[in-house]
Amino acid sequence: MSNSSEEFIPSLYDKMIDNTSYTNSNNKVTRIIVDTHNQNRKKSIHSECILKDSFLGSCNGIINAHSIQNSGILDKLSENNYVLPLDNFTELFNIDIEKLLLGKNEATIFRGFCKKHDEVFRPIEDIEYGYNKELQNYLFAYRAFCKRYIDSKSSYNYYSKRFSDFVDSEKLEGVIEKHADIPIQRKEIREHKKTYTNKRQVKRMEEFNKLLKKNEQLKFIFNTNLEKQRYFKIQTLELEFSAKNILACSSMIDIATDFQGKLFNKNLKYPLFLSVLPVGDTTKVLISYLKTHSTYLERIINVIKNSNVHQQEIILSNILIKNANNIIFNPLEFRKFNEKSIKIIAGGQLRRTQSTNEPLVTLKLNIFRPQ
Ligand SMILES: [Zn+2]
Repeated sequence: MSNSSEEFIPSLYDKMIDNTSYTNSNNKVTRIIVDTHNQNRKKSIHSECILKDSFLGSCNGIINAHSIQNSGILDKLSENNYVLPLDNFTELFNIDIEKLLLGKNEATIFRGFCKKHDEVFRPIEDIEYGYNKELQNYLFAYRAFCKRYIDSKSSYNYYSKRFSDFVDSEKLEGVIEKHADIPIQRKEIREHKKTYTNKRQVKRMEEFNKLLKKNEQLKFIFNTNLEKQRYFKIQTLELEFSAKNILACSSMIDIATDFQGKLFNKNLKYPLFLSVLPVGDTTKVLISYLKTHSTYLERIINVIKNSNVHQQEIILSNILIKNANNIIFNPLEFRKFNEKSIKIIAGGQLRRTQSTNEPLVTLKLNIFRPQ
C-alpha cells in the first residue's frame, strides 16, 4: 500500500468522526464530504418552542427567532446589511473574510420559539439595555441558554444519524471511490475502521444523553423562574468597555479550569451565560449565572470583577474565542485584524476544549481592539 493512500484514508475517516477541519477545498473527495456534512446538518435542525405547554398558553407557529437582536444590535455591526459570524472558523486560515459574510437577517437565528412566545423577549428587543436591569439580565441569560438548548438537540439529531448516513453509507462510499484521485484503502480495512468509529459513536451518544438531560433541568429552572418573575435567581456581572460596534455574542459557556489552570467545574455543572452588546459608544458585557451556583463561580467572577479594564478585555477575549459560540463581528472592524491576530483567533476557535491544567487566559489577544 502506498504512503499516499495511508495518509489519505485515515484522515478521511477521522474527518468523518470529528467533522471540523476540511481546509483543502480543492480536493474532490473533501468537497463531497463537506457537502454531505452540510446537507445532513440542514436536515438535523431542531424546531421546538421552549415555552410550549407553559404558563403563557398555547403556541402558534415556530419562527426563525434571532438570538441577537436584529434591529438594535446587528444593525450596528453590519456593513451593507452583512455581518461576520465566527462559526466557520477553520476557513479563517484562508483569510477570505468576504466569503464568510452573512446577511444580518439570517445571522444568529434559531428555531426555539413560536411567534407568540418569542414576545417574551420584548424587554430586550424593544428597549435599550439599562431600563430594568434585573429583568433584562435574566432575559439575556435565558436567550443564551435557549440557543444552546436548540443547538444541542440539532447536534443530537445530526450525530444520531451520522454513522448510518455518513460513515456506514455504501452510497457515499461508492461516490468517494469513484472520485478519489489517489487510490483509497481496501474495503476490509475500511470496514475495520468503521468498527472503532462506531465505538466512538456509542460513547458520544452517551455523552449527548447526559447533556440533553442537563439542558432539560436548566430549562425547567429558567421557565419556572420566568413564570414566578424571580429574576434575581440569575446573578450578573456587568462590565463596560470603551469599544464601539465591534462585536456581539449570546452564548452559554462552560469553563472547566480557573486562572491558574485548576479544575473547578469537572462535569461542567456550573454554566455561565455570556452576552456582549454594543450600547451607545461602548460595549456591555454581561456574565450571568444561576444564584445557586454562586459558591462555585464567585472566585472566577471576583477575579474578573477586580481586574482593570485592560485585563478584563483580555480575559473576555480568551473566553469568547475559546469557549463561546454565536459571535458576530462587524466586518469593517474585523478587517483591521492583522494576520497574526487572525491566526490566534482561528487557532483558539479550532480548539474547543480546555486541556487539563490549562489556565483560562492563554491567548495574547484583545478582540475589542482590532489590530
Ligand atoms: Zn410557543
